[in-house]
Amino acid sequence: MKNITILGSTGSIGVNTLNVIDNLDQDYNIVGLSANTSANTILSQIKKYKPEVVAIADLNTAGFVKEQLKGYDITILPGRSGLLELSSRNDVDLLFNALVGSSGMEPTLCAIKSSVDVALSNKESLVMAGDIIESEKIKSGAKIFPVDSEHSAIWQCLAGEKIDQVEKIILTGSGGPFRNRDIDTLIDVKVSDALNHPNWEMGKKITIDSASMMNKGLEVIETKWLFGIDWDKIEIVIHPESIIHSMVEFKDKSVKAQMGVPDMKVPIQYALTYPDRKVAEWESLDLSKIGSLNFEPPSFKRFPCISLAYETLKKGGSYPAVLNVANEQAVYRFLNNEISFIDIPIIIEKACEKHEYIKQPSLEELIYIETWTINFVKSFEGKK
Ligand code: MG
Repeated sequence: MKNITILGSTGSIGVNTLNVIDNLDQDYNIVGLSANTSANTILSQIKKYKPEVVAIADLNTAGFVKEQLKGYDITILPGRSGLLELSSRNDVDLLFNALVGSSGMEPTLCAIKSSVDVALSNKESLVMAGDIIESEKIKSGAKIFPVDSEHSAIWQCLAGEKIDQVEKIILTGSGGPFRNRDIDTLIDVKVSDALNHPNWEMGKKITIDSASMMNKGLEVIETKWLFGIDWDKIEIVIHPESIIHSMVEFKDKSVKAQMGVPDMKVPIQYALTYPDRKVAEWESLDLSKIGSLNFEPPSFKRFPCISLAYETLKKGGSYPAVLNVANEQAVYRFLNNEISFIDIPIIIEKACEKHEYIKQPSLEELIYIETWTINFVKSFEGKK
């Protein structure tokens, strides 16, 4: 029996995680769940999984859910403090962090500090606070199991290998919906165009990040912290079929690749069952049906977000945190039709330039940087 808490259980990854658990022949005890505003989804999850505790970040939603559950034996923890309280519990075996955006950073830290292993889907945690999380991991002995498909692939390729014998890591990316679109027309991209990802079904924020390829940029930074590999040993290759999920080249030029159907349930299940592999419900990879796999270099001109991510990783300190928050806020403004698609990298670059650099930001300083960057992006006048 494994005791598990799932943060962000009503989002795309959270729902998939519960589906994977339903189909595994292993007993899981769901201790805690968390949601923000999705009242109906969390109510049905509570009735099905009977967790002890549920954290609900949005206060109105928390009040509504509590009202609906009169007579139930359950603790509802409201607000941000409730989420952090749930993340700090040391009586679970695994915290599955499927929160979206920088709000997921502190819960990761809380779990690590409580010596609880984290299955990490929230890549923003490491982008924002990689340095702090790394040192807390060493202190507490807690581990991070990657859930991102690329990092799960690298993790699987590295099984049985020595990290100092790695020559480079090759992250694959589909290139998203704008891989072949005329660059001059990117200014006219509509929200619906950007949400139309060719291969993966994901939440809105990550789908926009895939269209701008900032998702790959964030994954470069995530790779550095997960595997201790420097930026100059991390490459990106566009692979439109999303069958190879990433590769590792070793010193002898041998390359290992991890393949599979593009379904997030595969890396989710591996993070849950590691180091074991369990029977899965989904289809097998059929290479003869796919026919051919294609590769091309990424265009830094088409996708300036990739260069921005590499630059902030090289500069280090507070830069990646500013990049991450500025991107997140710019994506929300784009989704609200307030700015154009090509404003996203312009805003991020300006925020990075204007912020007050801190070499080794503490958690408090990261929270200050987050607030500063949110306000900076709010004040930006877009091209719309
Ligand atoms: Mg990914």
